[in-house]
Amino acid sequence: MEYFDIMNSACSDVGLSMDNKIYEKFIDYKELIKFWNEKVNLTAIIDDEQIIKKHFIDCIKIFKFSPLKEAKSIIDVGTGAGFPGIPIKIVKPDVNMILLDSLNKRINFLNEVINKIDLKNITTIHGRAEDFSRKSEYREKCDAAVSRAVANLAVLSELCIPYVRVGGYFVAMKGPSVDDEIKEGKNAVSILGGKIEDIVKIEIENSDLNHNLVIIKKVKETPKVYPRKAGTAAKKPLK
Ligand code: SAM
Repeated sequence: MEYFDIMNSACSDVGLSMDNKIYEKFIDYKELIKFWNEKVNLTAIIDDEQIIKKHFIDCIKIFKFSPLKEAKSIIDVGTGAGFPGIPIKIVKPDVNMILLDSLNKRINFLNEVINKIDLKNITTIHGRAEDFSRKSEYREKCDAAVSRAVANLAVLSELCIPYVRVGGYFVAMKGPSVDDEIKEGKNAVSILGGKIEDIVKIEIENSDLNHNLVIIKKVKETPKVYPRKAGTAAKKPLK
């Protein structure tokens, strides 16, 4: 199958549509990843087909959780080379997207991508997640937070849940060890004002990837003492 067809079928699997304009943005993004990856460490995945499946399609499948389509503002915490934030923004151009990462080289790359593939209403933040969610302009302001491959659920919840407004969602993209992470992280989720609502299984056609979306609803405000000082969540995860 051509890349267009694989991506088109991933989009229709989650109830979204893809056209040539969207497809071209993905292809330009893929080329920028390959070009920049030679000087900045962005990803270990550099083969065209793998970039499309393991990055683009994996991220598009976040919309298996369909209420995310209603979110008007989303923050991607620890976005790295833009995953899942950029694919989300490409397939849902009307969303206000914030991409946050503590590595400035990756932020420079993302600014170039945003400029080259002409994305609007998307901002980048260079910094630690724990520092920005304390600021009133970011705290509990987003309809949703999303994150992939940044930390285990207990740690990640402290980085992400403070950004989400009450009634919104934190969607954590997780691998096969999701059950253990939930066992260890469920109390942290609750302390931070979240409630685990569902685990959605993700399949990527013609691959052996076994992924899960942990769906956390924000049910009450995050206590003011969280997040703790940058680095504390990772050193002493909430139990
Ligand atoms: N989400 C991307 C993906 O799935 O390809 C990147 C994953 S990469 C393994 C983890 C990223 O999280 C890195 O770019 C790192 O700089 C960022 N990161 C880790 N802890 C962070 C924190 N406390 N605040 C902001 N960014 C953080």
